[in-house]
Amino acid sequence: MKVWKKVLWLWLAALTAEAASEQRQQGPIVLDGHFIQGGMVLGTAPKGTQLTLNGKALRLTGDGRFVFGFGRDEPLSHQLSWHRPGQSGQMAITINKRKYDIQKINGVASKYVNPDPNVDARIKEDNRKLAAARKRDENLGYFLQPFIWPAEGRLSGVYGSQRIFNGEPRNPHYGLDLSAPTGAPVYAPAGGLVTLVEPDMYFSGGTLIVDHGYGLSSTFIHLSKIEVKAGQRVEQGDLIARVGATGRVTGPHLDWRVNWFSTRLDPQLLVPPRSDTQKRK
Ligand SMILES: [Zn+2]
Repeated sequence: MKVWKKVLWLWLAALTAEAASEQRQQGPIVLDGHFIQGGMVLGTAPKGTQLTLNGKALRLTGDGRFVFGFGRDEPLSHQLSWHRPGQSGQMAITINKRKYDIQKINGVASKYVNPDPNVDARIKEDNRKLAAARKRDENLGYFLQPFIWPAEGRLSGVYGSQRIFNGEPRNPHYGLDLSAPTGAPVYAPAGGLVTLVEPDMYFSGGTLIVDHGYGLSSTFIHLSKIEVKAGQRVEQGDLIARVGATGRVTGPHLDWRVNWFSTRLDPQLLVPPRSDTQKRK
């Protein structure tokens, strides 16, 4: 990649990270978050309110908190409806469109670019496990915590970018990549329940999912070591894993992904801006 392109790309990444969150209110509903593709929104409604987003029920905590998010290529118009005794209403939510980057990566082992048909069954099984973990809807309020960065390291990949492996366009990249040496610590960006521990998935290598509650989960991939067990509760800042270069990678880094159920969100919008992620290589 040409230097000026790399600079521009990192500048855009930094800009995205600093995109301010916004508060919107209508009637008894208060929303706070990033009204943008890849953004997460936290909400508050009076106790006992029934809510639907685009016709699908949203689950509220006992004190009326909820979360939802928008995918990479999400339509820009959404409808939030609420209903409670004696009052109901609708809120139109318009979100902003994002621009995504193209990243060219050469030198990827061909077995990962065009997997052997014999590994199809293994990849399907990996995907089934990941989807099942992300489908969980735990009664945990950790999704309300302001997130912290899970590792130190240079920002080497951003959400939504499209990668071209050895000249072949692939699915978009949904993770935030932090370059760090194998063995570097990975900390829980927010508390949660460990719902998936897999030491060796085909594409993602050492893979860990921490569920923050109400559909919000973090996935950490390419790990060299996982320091927690499935079913374990972790608190924000706990050591949970070690950076590695397992699965389809060109070098050791942490790849952190955030989901709202199956919808992939931008992790960088959840953490505060960090000066060293904005530096040039
Ligand atoms: Zn990655």
